[in-house]
Amino acid sequence: MPHRLSFRRYRLPFRAAVRTAHGVWAEREGVIVRLESEGGAVGWGEAAPLAEFGTETADEVEAACRGAGEGLAAETLTALPRRLLCLRSALAAALAGLEGSGAVGHRPSRYLPVAALLPAGRAALVQIPPKAEAGFRTFKWKVGAGDAADELALLDDVCAALPTGSKLRLDANGAWDRRRAELWLERCAERPVEFIEQPIAAEAKGAEDLLLGLAADYPTPLALDESLVGGDAVDHWLGLGWPGIFVLKPSLLGGAAESLARLEKAASDRVVFSSALETAVGARAALRTAFAWPGKTRALGFGVWPLFADGRFDGPASAPFIRSEDVDRINPEAIWTALA
Ligand code: MG
Repeated sequence: MPHRLSFRRYRLPFRAAVRTAHGVWAEREGVIVRLESEGGAVGWGEAAPLAEFGTETADEVEAACRGAGEGLAAETLTALPRRLLCLRSALAAALAGLEGSGAVGHRPSRYLPVAALLPAGRAALVQIPPKAEAGFRTFKWKVGAGDAADELALLDDVCAALPTGSKLRLDANGAWDRRRAELWLERCAERPVEFIEQPIAAEAKGAEDLLLGLAADYPTPLALDESLVGGDAVDHWLGLGWPGIFVLKPSLLGGAAESLARLEKAASDRVVFSSALETAVGARAALRTAFAWPGKTRALGFGVWPLFADGRFDGPASAPFIRSEDVDRINPEAIWTALA
């Protein structure tokens, strides 16, 4: 029996522009989808594309939703082009919601740690004390966004500002070449660096060999993020025997349940769940995946809220922990209404 599909597109300005090695983002575009079964059950999903990561665009999501028409059979999901990763993620979440399998209440751990997000450059130093005071013990610092020599010189100041026992993650967003990455890896070796995220761009020439080589040559673990768009990419890196961390943005995986199951078997303690700067609708689905994960759960990359200029689209405000109750309390209907 087909479900009734409706959708609303959004374009939401961020509260403050987000600055990474990909550039400066001022707003987020995406599509909220709503599925209603014949019996009146409702499921929600969000397609939050990041075309610069290699997903489809918001225009493509909208066109595919229009093309699907009013009625969506469950089989339509498998028939959608695999390229439409974000729409597939959205529809998989909405279908799970219809089947009532979305809630996280079954997991024994009721809360998960969150990494504090530090801005690029010297501004990080100002933000560490209040975040440490709030209780954060994992910190993620954006690098590769400013002058490379200045950033490297700041590393010791950043490490010194952290509370004892803290872990630091560095996220280069693919900004470095081999030489730059080696300089950082040498410097990080005796510092409390949990991992360096995406030192080399996913699309750089020879990126695979370079990343595997660097991972083998230095003690600080490397993490893949931009390299892991879609379940096929997860499978690919599993096949290569990637020894490092897998940063998963569930919104960009295309609802890849089989790939996640394989990852769970091979590397369940090397996974970090992370935000794709989606609204609370997509974040709810992503966090549910994180709460259902059976392996060791590393601090979540969800220290992003408040994120939007209009706070109605945010998830729970950044705290050192996210509770499963807060995830279940997210109300997609309110976001849907706010977009009317
Ligand atoms: Mg990243």
